[in-house]
Amino acid sequence: MNKIEHIGIAVKDIDRANSLYSQLLGEDPYKTETVISEKVITSFFKSGPNKIELLAATEVDSTIAKYIEKKGEGIHHIAFAVDDIVAEMNRLRKNGFQLLSEHPKKGADNKLVCFIHPKSAHGVLVELCQEIK
Ligand code: ZN
Repeated sequence: MNKIEHIGIAVKDIDRANSLYSQLLGEDPYKTETVISEKVITSFFKSGPNKIELLAATEVDSTIAKYIEKKGEGIHHIAFAVDDIVAEMNRLRKNGFQLLSEHPKKGADNKLVCFIHPKSAHGVLVELCQEIK
């Protein structure tokens, strides 16, 4: 794993959260993107070399909606950048980590992604992401 790529924060209302985080970070999001397959709208902020991803549900049955219902708004996942997501998935599987998908999926911000079950990582939802070239 190369570095922390971003931190994901679950929010109820993307517009209100965008406005608040723009004030907090002193910069507007550089990208807003809907991931239809995941029923989420995302926006990305830069803070120096680091990124923050806000995620809000676009449908009531979105996993983000269910997450917020259960746990409320807040830090949702930590994403790590990897060069070869399939190799990392195989390595982690061999080490007993429970992955949430068999294959990488197309995520936001031009990435292939895979999530690791929080049960496998002391309560933290971990995302692997590989830049699509
Ligand atoms: Zn993410």
